[in-house]
Amino acid sequence: MHEMALCQGMVELIEEQRRLDGFATVKRVIVEIGALGHVDPHALEFAFDVGARGTSAESAALEIREIPGRGWCMDCSRSIEIAARGEGCPECGGYQLIVEQGEELRLKELEVA
Ligand SMILES: [Zn+2]
Repeated sequence: MHEMALCQGMVELIEEQRRLDGFATVKRVIVEIGALGHVDPHALEFAFDVGARGTSAESAALEIREIPGRGWCMDCSRSIEIAARGEGCPECGGYQLIVEQGEELRLKELEVA
């Protein structure tokens, strides 16, 4: 389960931020995950629960926002939205797509106290 590794990275980032900012606890963590990535939101929640134990983010609520994928269709030469991995271009149905966005996991916002 690679969500565990992702969460460890996230928790490390949060702890790093805490050293810089000096906040006591994290109330809410907002992460964005790309719809084309390989991150399962439920697995991510579980992994965060485990990974944040004993850190300032221990009691934080995890808010997961899925962001749609974007790419470039080589068949119709335009920027398109890609709903899910393996799907074709919504405009022309072609599969010559270059993915530009949607595979990332990003720590978007921290609500701290
Ligand atoms: Zn197209």
